[in-house]
Amino acid sequence: QLSSETPADHIFRSKLPDIPISNHLPLHTYCFENLPSLSDKPCLISGSSGKIYSFSETHLIAQKTAAGLSNLGIQKGDAIMILLHNCAEFVFAFMGASMIGAVSTTANPFYTSKEIFKQFKAARAKLIITQSQYVDKLKDTNNNNDGDENFPKIGEDFKVITIDDPPENCLDFSVLSEANENEIPQVTIHPDDPVALPFSSGTTGLPKGVVLTHKSLITSVAQQVDGENPNLYLTHDDVVLCVLPLFHIYSLNSVLLCSLRAGAAVLLMQKFEIGTLLELIQRHKVSVAAVVPPLVLLLAKNPVVAQFDLSSIRVVLSGAAPLGKELEEALRGRVPQAVLGQGYGMTEAGPVLSMCLGFAKQPFPTKSGSCGTVVRNAELKVIDPETGCSLGYNQPGEICIRGSQIMKGYLNDSVATAATIDVEGWLHTGDIGYVDEDDEIFIVDRVKEIIKFKGFQVPPAELESLLISHPSIADAAVVPQKDEVAGEVPVAFVVRSNGFELTEEAVKEFIAKQVVYYKRLHKVHFVHAIPKSPSGKILRKDLRAKLAAVAPT
Ligand code: ATP
Ligand code: MG
Repeated sequence: QLSSETPADHIFRSKLPDIPISNHLPLHTYCFENLPSLSDKPCLISGSSGKIYSFSETHLIAQKTAAGLSNLGIQKGDAIMILLHNCAEFVFAFMGASMIGAVSTTANPFYTSKEIFKQFKAARAKLIITQSQYVDKLKDTNNNNDGDENFPKIGEDFKVITIDDPPENCLDFSVLSEANENEIPQVTIHPDDPVALPFSSGTTGLPKGVVLTHKSLITSVAQQVDGENPNLYLTHDDVVLCVLPLFHIYSLNSVLLCSLRAGAAVLLMQKFEIGTLLELIQRHKVSVAAVVPPLVLLLAKNPVVAQFDLSSIRVVLSGAAPLGKELEEALRGRVPQAVLGQGYGMTEAGPVLSMCLGFAKQPFPTKSGSCGTVVRNAELKVIDPETGCSLGYNQPGEICIRGSQIMKGYLNDSVATAATIDVEGWLHTGDIGYVDEDDEIFIVDRVKEIIKFKGFQVPPAELESLLISHPSIADAAVVPQKDEVAGEVPVAFVVRSNGFELTEEAVKEFIAKQVVYYKRLHKVHFVHAIPKSPSGKILRKDLRAKLAAVAPT
């Protein structure tokens, strides 16, 4: 019982009304619900081969894959690992697994053997779908096993399926995609059954396994694309760019699942290369581009961009990491016709917490630098990280979210789950942000990344955003350095733009002119590149380690 003195939480909601959400359905049923009206429309477009799969072909091959997985012994509740770059087979495998009540755990094919098996074992996966070039990493050779006697063996302990010519002991993807769709077993899927086990990006520590159910993913997709006035309005005529890796939940949910549901075509790009990307956007008249800040940086700053026709783009959605308004404005110069905006996501949150309302069918005005407004059918609050008290407009604090879209919990870790989702159902994000008077959310930075200079808070993201607005700076990252007097001081890693002279003093002065004294840079290290994760995040932990190695205190 709350005492009468407990102040009520200040809860922020979408400006869009709540809608009915069909989250009692299995995910595949929901995603393909509009199939009858879409049948011959392009669904998946392979960027490399140009091959197009219509909605009915995609659905049929997913059904065959479901039957094929079942033939190989995969049952309801079993997990499969999808270790693939973006390709049509990824989609068939993910949707096929859903159809038999199985669960997909998705991983980066560039992972080391150790990383792959850590996730494989945590998910208790029974089968891996990959490309032949990665099969060596799945073998008990090359000291992959660390002396582990129980290292799983291909063919005995798990099966490996390759989408190209299968090496010894592996199976061809056709065992799945050419199975008889009439042999799909009858399964009853409960909304709370897991369907995806994505892992967080591992930006702050080790990646964490996250259990997402049919209900969570349907809720999240519906919050974006359903309703009379969808928050992210996608039409049957849209071509949505899928260059961000599908093994990360951002692309899997907001690009793939949202497009399937809304009937938009997905242009699959196997790997990122700027020239190919621009060429494909031009050729396939991409209308919606889902990007991350490192890609925005390239699009805004790389001179090659000017040689391509990007006039088909009507929406650019950036997410996964902070995008400052300076960079957003620089991108605007390249795609003046497009609506630019952000989504804010976190694997544990299903993942979308907020989305730009400028993407709605009847759009709202929005401000650059904002991460959008909390999605509909959800509640968001901002709390004082010390007291836990909820805060009002324009007061920065830890963002918390509640709704049916959030994870069921961390994989095999009830302690971490209880530390993240409180008894009232609020998921604590670990991100500091505030909601302005127009209900727009601004992320300041992660609680863990904020630099503390004599107790004053210095968000690295703010300094990074200023740094990259400098014409001679191609990229930058800011991390804390231990300091006897101040506790921590901000130091920068800076990549100079090609052919530009730039001194440490000039960089320091550029920042000093724009910020309060305690946010000034104490040191600038010039480097060739900033370490980033495939999901688009600056790996500040790597830079902190680098600092600790050069300047032990
Ligand atoms: P780990 O939890 O393993 O350390 P991670 O938090 O980077 O990694 P993800 O779940 O992929 O893994 O990322 C979620 C985080 O990304 C959020 O908590 C937030 O810090 C950041 N983020 C996502 N979208 C935005 C955005 N639009 N602006 C600022 N930050 C964002
Ligand atoms: Mg995280």
